[in-house]
Amino acid sequence: MADTVSAGEGSGAGDARSGSLEGTGVVSSVSAGAGSLTGAGLGSIGDASSGSLMESASGAAGGVGSLASEGARSGDFIGAGRYAPSPTGDFHLGNLRTALLAWALARNAGLGFIMRMEDLDERSRPEHGEHQLADLAALGIEWDEPIVYQSEQLTQYDAAFAELEARGLLYECYCTRKDLAQVASAPHRPPGSYPGTCRDLTAAEREAGRAKLAGMQRGPALRLRTDVTELAVVDEILGEYTGAVDDVVIKRGDGVYSYNFVAVFDDGQECITQVVRGDDLLPSTPRQVYLQRVLGIPTPKYFHVPMVFNAEGVRLAKRDGAVTMRDLAKFGWEPADILELLGRSLGMRGVRTATEFAEALTLERLRQGPWLLDPVSLAAGPGAVLRGQ
Ligand SMILES: [Zn+2]
Repeated sequence: MADTVSAGEGSGAGDARSGSLEGTGVVSSVSAGAGSLTGAGLGSIGDASSGSLMESASGAAGGVGSLASEGARSGDFIGAGRYAPSPTGDFHLGNLRTALLAWALARNAGLGFIMRMEDLDERSRPEHGEHQLADLAALGIEWDEPIVYQSEQLTQYDAAFAELEARGLLYECYCTRKDLAQVASAPHRPPGSYPGTCRDLTAAEREAGRAKLAGMQRGPALRLRTDVTELAVVDEILGEYTGAVDDVVIKRGDGVYSYNFVAVFDDGQECITQVVRGDDLLPSTPRQVYLQRVLGIPTPKYFHVPMVFNAEGVRLAKRDGAVTMRDLAKFGWEPADILELLGRSLGMRGVRTATEFAEALTLERLRQGPWLLDPVSLAAGPGAVLRGQ
């Protein structure tokens, strides 16, 4: 994964960031699809369907309550969509496509659009974020100001974390990456889900766990004590999906707040009513919806969009060749050509602007499965690829 752009939710790189150390268990398979609704083990959480946008928006303003910053959107606010990349490299066509879809679906729903930089990861660099924003602007994607930088939100995360701690909902986990890899491969468990190894340890066992980690220059992770094992959620494209809810990591062993925690918290802060992201993140949605309920945040509408696969049927990555806007410019690709290519990927002809892309977009187009792209073919230039010249 090292050479793939880790562009947050919009890129489908979320699995990289919620990796095995966290044990949050986002499975890497893209074919998770809309699982069968078993209804088993749903516990007391109940129905996951989200209300109307207006209800969600007003609920968000009230629900987050004391945790909301003074700048939280309220009043005339009708909700927003968002795109939340990690500034760890240039976008490739898959990232650009998901960002465009997030913007277009927000625009078509009459919502605001928030850009959020998930820059807590140590690989994040401001210059990468600037390149990413410049690429989106070149495509004609516009967003509401200000851009949210997670690295500037630590005080709010601390407050939300302290509240969970005060409610007795957190416990220390001493499992190493190796421990988690072993349980993740155990039979009869959802892939990557945490079995609760450290949930009910004695004081002596906890002391031993801390001592073990101290020898490795790290501390325990903090996990949420959940009371369900799975949850049904609704996706606007894929339908109902039931997936595992485990004791999700809130703060990692290195002291960094987990992707799941900050993504859910930020959605509440920004009154996000619509989440559009790669369908590789569908399996993480039940645990995020559970966390929303713990934090008193309304559940947004979810749109998990199909991803881009290369000629080998593997999710597109930068190592696949010239797949960033900067790379493609060398072969004559202008932003309008890239928009046309992205439109073609969804069966839309002649799209040359972001507005045209949004106008031609329907949910049915997003139910056609992944986009299969041979990146090598793009070197022939837009004339050959788009117009057969
Ligand atoms: Zn543990």
